[in-house]
Amino acid sequence: MALGFANCGDRPCPCGSGDSLLQCCGPLHRGRLKAETAEQLMRSRYSAYALSEVDYLIATHPDAASAAAERRRELRASCRQTRWHGLTVLASEAGRQDDLEGSVRFEAVFSASGERHVLKEHSLFRRRDGQATGEWLYVGPLD
Ligand SMILES: [Zn+2]
Repeated sequence: MALGFANCGDRPCPCGSGDSLLQCCGPLHRGRLKAETAEQLMRSRYSAYALSEVDYLIATHPDAASAAAERRRELRASCRQTRWHGLTVLASEAGRQDDLEGSVRFEAVFSASGERHVLKEHSLFRRRDGQATGEWLYVGPLD
């Protein structure tokens, strides 16, 4: 694992922030930092999809633990079949340090089975247990 991490350390972060992975979403994927805003969590989940960081995707979604094993299998398969090409955050509402809830509207370009698609979503994020100290979790799409 250390080798893999060193190898990808200098690459640009897939979320498109312009920072390197190590300066951006990498520390969130490794559990060294928590997302401070809903948009930061959204970006880090996008780059987790791009990098097959399945455990991070599970840890940032409020699914019951019993559903995690199946979810992990589905996510692994989905990550294998999908290539993510870029993320554009169109709008963020609330979801800041002192908020309990927020939403992010984004577009993500991906290809699957040789076809290019654009995923457009308005995502809802909420802090765990509605507590100011809870970490940001992805709840689901709003529309
Ligand atoms: Zn990033």
